[in-house]
Amino acid sequence: MKNRQSTFSNPVLSIIIPVHNEADVIPTLLKRLDFVCRQLPGQVELLFVDDGSRDNSVAQLLRARDRYSGIRVVQLSRNFGKEAAVTAGLESARGDAVVLMDADLQDPPELIPRMVQAWQKGADVVLMKRRSRAGESWLKRTTASIFYRLINHISDASIPVDTGDFRLMSRRTVDALNRLPERNRYLKGMFAWVGMPTVTLEFDRDPRLAGKTKWNYLKLLHLAMEGITSFSTRPLRIALILGLLAAGAGGFFGTWEVIRALVFGISTPGYASMIAVITFLSGVQLLCVGLLGEYVGRIYMETKQRPVFIVAEDSDDIAQPLLTQL
Ligand code: UDP
Ligand code: MG
Repeated sequence: MKNRQSTFSNPVLSIIIPVHNEADVIPTLLKRLDFVCRQLPGQVELLFVDDGSRDNSVAQLLRARDRYSGIRVVQLSRNFGKEAAVTAGLESARGDAVVLMDADLQDPPELIPRMVQAWQKGADVVLMKRRSRAGESWLKRTTASIFYRLINHISDASIPVDTGDFRLMSRRTVDALNRLPERNRYLKGMFAWVGMPTVTLEFDRDPRLAGKTKWNYLKLLHLAMEGITSFSTRPLRIALILGLLAAGAGGFFGTWEVIRALVFGISTPGYASMIAVITFLSGVQLLCVGLLGEYVGRIYMETKQRPVFIVAEDSDDIAQPLLTQL
């Protein structure tokens, strides 16, 4: 790697922040980021990716951009979801290191200088692990923990528990991520898959500053399905085994009935048991077909080769040369 030393004396850091209807938090966010950027040893690019906000988030950001250089606003053409917004950020970021953080200040920006220090000491990835999660419900914490345990059990890349997207990544890590071509993007899994020397720091996660979470259980279920199917084909094998077991049980039951009738002369009035067996088996079949469908659907989405996001406007196309300190 050339020029590592010289890069380090003046690192250019990109801070990527996906924004979807966050007008209430943006003033505080900018204030706290401004304070943090002053402590950083070099030039900073604040890269806001607007994910189709319908409030005045964009107007606020553009106003801030006119006042300070170093702020860049990439506007997606509609709401594509956080994963796509972060992908857009990773592809546009120009820093030697990139920090991902949420707009709602659940990830305190004051920790960024510590992350940069860890990177300067040689880490490629600085992971932020939550020691506590204030303001998240018991149900959310439990379902999250069950999900991570499940996914780590069945998938090939192991995803560290209690870490979110709040992290710093070196340029070569970001380049590696940008080379992953899939359209169904489960970022946490992709981060884990890319690997690289990692340092983990602990922090206390704050509650959301204002506004409401954009997640609901349906979206989370979708994300969970994404996570499981993009990183493992083991569910297909489980379906196969389930099918084998059910077929075996059915065969055994049938044989037993025949033997009973022929040897012992007992003919069972088997209406109820027959219905039970048929329902059970069709259930298993539907389950397996549905599971296959999940994978086929994803293959279909991948074959379309559509871009993950569409940029409507990048403030940088019109802005003056950026990357001067806030
Ligand atoms: N976000 C986004 N697109 C979406 C939903 C969310 O860019 O469709 C952004 C949001 O503005 C925030 C981050 O993703 O910066 C995390 O969202 P949120 O705080 O709602 O999620 P939670 O912290 O509850 O998991
Ligand atoms: Mg949040």
